[in-house]
Amino acid sequence: MTIGNLNPNNEIGSSAWFVEMENNRILLDCGLHPAILGSAALPCFDLISTEKLDAIAITHCHQDHCGSIPVAMQYFPAASVLMSELSYYLLPRILHNSVNVMKKQAVEQNIPEYPLYTHEEVTILEPRFQGFRYDREIEWISFSKTCLGIESPTLEFIDAGHTLGSCGILLRSPNGESLFYTGDCCLHDQTLLRKARFDNVQADVLLLECTRGDHPNIVDHKTEMDRLGEAIIRAQKAKRSVLIPVFALGRTQEILTELALLMGNDKILPQKIYIGGLGRHFTDLYDQTASYTNRNYPKLRFGELMDLQTIEPNSLSKIRLSKPHIFVLTAGMMSENTPTHDLAIRFMQDPELSILFVGYASPDSPAGRLKAAIPGEPFFFSEFAPEIVCRCNREEFDLTGHAYRDELIDLVGKVSPKTVLLAHGSPEAKNWVKENIQRRYPDIQVLDPQPKEFITLDSTA
Ligand SMILES: [Zn+2]
Ligand SMILES: [Zn+2]
Repeated sequence: MTIGNLNPNNEIGSSAWFVEMENNRILLDCGLHPAILGSAALPCFDLISTEKLDAIAITHCHQDHCGSIPVAMQYFPAASVLMSELSYYLLPRILHNSVNVMKKQAVEQNIPEYPLYTHEEVTILEPRFQGFRYDREIEWISFSKTCLGIESPTLEFIDAGHTLGSCGILLRSPNGESLFYTGDCCLHDQTLLRKARFDNVQADVLLLECTRGDHPNIVDHKTEMDRLGEAIIRAQKAKRSVLIPVFALGRTQEILTELALLMGNDKILPQKIYIGGLGRHFTDLYDQTASYTNRNYPKLRFGELMDLQTIEPNSLSKIRLSKPHIFVLTAGMMSENTPTHDLAIRFMQDPELSILFVGYASPDSPAGRLKAAIPGEPFFFSEFAPEIVCRCNREEFDLTGHAYRDELIDLVGKVSPKTVLLAHGSPEAKNWVKENIQRRYPDIQVLDPQPKEFITLDSTA
């Protein structure tokens, strides 16, 4: 088996793994780096451009795992594109949204190579997407090979508990080799989504996400979510607005669940919740698919319980912040040309208002810079606010849709692989995971494939 890391950077973003099993080739994830502009945000598809790729399979619909599918399909027009059934509902909207963002950036930030793909391309590609239920074994080699009687490796999507539709991917080849790619996974319950269902997974090679490897876990999910609830209650009592920057898929719905619980328990008054258009779309999908997702509160429907107010592009400036509004807005990294970015600039000027951070932000994104800003000192937020002082209240909550690092080490024991390959984490995060696997399971080989590195393993030996 050969595995290639196509991510050009040694950091989270642009996830893409090439896997060759017995002359069959698959690409696991096709990410686009959310904080890098232009074609530098793409995985290194050039490294495999001469390969005959059978299929592309994606773990979930976050930009860093699926944002470059249309570009990959320019390289590999014959490959089928496989995903979980729930991701199948989400993906076209994610890709069309990326086109909109890139088109705006092309003009406002002068990036002539944008958009990297068009709405027309996405529309043409859509019929080639295939969605599958979790835990079903699928053959993935090209149809022409099947006609020749070649036996296909299989693939299974296994619920990863990270966002709606997220999965780990289990590959098995006819000669008995197996690889399990965790994708982004959550190994504990979140407020809404329940944890990954990886309990019965075993594989020779484990491609393991390491996001939280550099992050000791001090509090559990429920304690931290309760603390966020208290901050929201305080702001409501003081009749002040709060801004919670979130990713449209996953974190938005987790925060809305907390707000629904606060309202249901009379901790805050029923009121409008302002959310972004993309967040609204995915929230509706969470409602529509609620009966067959692995979640807490199976009867909770956001659309019925809450007055969700979608922010239109030009309506934001008319909303007065002197009232106790709650904004649960994308983008989580406060990227330029998004409602969160523009609202954050207004928030920063008022000491009575609060920005509540509930997730990861790349250090080179506006949200990352705001988190790191020294109180009272001017800092570079974005081109649109190059020297701003943050006067508002800022709080951070350690909420995550990723596995805690000790849970990752436990997972290694359950999967019981011969080799672990480290993925999706800072060098510090991967080092911690490596050291702890080696300490606890000295017989397991741990490798850290570098950007653009290909590793061949004989896992049948
Ligand atoms: Zn993710
Ligand atoms: Zn990710």
